[in-house]
Amino acid sequence: MATGISPAPIRDILSKLTIQDFDLKGKGVFVRVDFNVPLDENLNITDDRRIRSALATINYAIDEGAKVILASHLGRPKGKADPRYSLAPVAKRLKRLLNKDVIFAPDCIGPQVKNIIDKMQPGDVVVLENLRFHPGEEKNDEEFAKALASLADFYVNDAFGTAHRNHASIVGVPKFLPAAAGFLLKKEIEYLKGVVNNPVRPFVAILGGAKVSGKIGVLENLESNVDKVLIGGGMAFTFIKAMGYEVGDSLVEDDMVEMAQRIRIKLKDRGVKFYLPVDCVIAQSLDPGAETKTVPTLEIPKGWKALDIGPATAKLFSEAIQNAKTILWNGPMGVFEIDAFSRGTFAVARAIADAYSLTIVGGGDTDLAVHRAGVSDSISFISTGGGATLQLLEGKELPGIAVLTDKKSE
Ligand code: AMP
Repeated sequence: MATGISPAPIRDILSKLTIQDFDLKGKGVFVRVDFNVPLDENLNITDDRRIRSALATINYAIDEGAKVILASHLGRPKGKADPRYSLAPVAKRLKRLLNKDVIFAPDCIGPQVKNIIDKMQPGDVVVLENLRFHPGEEKNDEEFAKALASLADFYVNDAFGTAHRNHASIVGVPKFLPAAAGFLLKKEIEYLKGVVNNPVRPFVAILGGAKVSGKIGVLENLESNVDKVLIGGGMAFTFIKAMGYEVGDSLVEDDMVEMAQRIRIKLKDRGVKFYLPVDCVIAQSLDPGAETKTVPTLEIPKGWKALDIGPATAKLFSEAIQNAKTILWNGPMGVFEIDAFSRGTFAVARAIADAYSLTIVGGGDTDLAVHRAGVSDSISFISTGGGATLQLLEGKELPGIAVLTDKKSE
């Protein structure tokens, strides 16, 4: 099982200050967290993993005697106050998770908030109201950023899932305060940059999801370090079409066909083993009750589309990862939201969980898939980001990380 397996000691590859570099005692620390949790119609939190992910940083700041000021967005309130997107339920849940009082501020800037913060004692925690109730947040307005910065002595970013956004609380505030990474952000960077720059080999990348256009940057960035590439999901059919085969009505991005062929040949020339599905589960529609068949990939009839990898592919992929030392998985193998097309994704999830390897699962749908497969505890690292994870895997610097204070320039 992958739990606890770390064949590559994850090196500290972060060149930025971390929260441990600050002397927090008695100081105000503005922590940008990602508390963008799902709520039901009665405003109950249906999944609090994002709050739990920030606890290491919050508890550290409390223990160090900081005044802990937590700021986040929630949903898309479009620049004005809207009770449906209030962070009040989050403050309540945090109180339970921390087992201590949590103050809730009814806004994120202004004299009332200042007043609340002035009265805080070391170790106190306040949750500010939704940053996106102010249009300045998403516009990265300088005055708004200054107003947020005036609340604290230090800035910490622990909101990895939002670190690719040019928003005031991500790139604006750190211009006015010493700025460091929190524990979650640091861990995300170490694992994701580690796998890109210096994976322990053999390194196998499994990519899936709807579109090849969303993952091509990752393929290009991994090409010099990866040993095997396994492609499933809708994106496989653009590659298969590019090889001159018919794929029935399966998803194909016509404008990516040439690109797909070029990258496949480039990888082959580098000696990378490149796997595509050998069989598929097909249907005429996405209707959960539609008739399904399992056919060899090259025999998908017109009018039918491939919506999952078949059992032979699941076996092939499971065998292909067996001697891997590092496995990266991003994107489901099929339309796993529908039962009839979920088996391939779950089979791959189980195979990864059983591998004696460092296993890294990249955000969004894949995160959901490993949870639904019941194997999340056996994965070494599950990234909390979607777009941010992909950008790091593409080798791009995230604006929210670039703006943090460099270790050497301190
Ligand atoms: P992405 O955001 O690109 O990772 O895509 C995730 C989505 O891809 C999921 O919602 C899946 O339902 C969808 N998907 C996976 N396989 C296929 C397929 N063969 N055809 C169409 N959509 C797919």
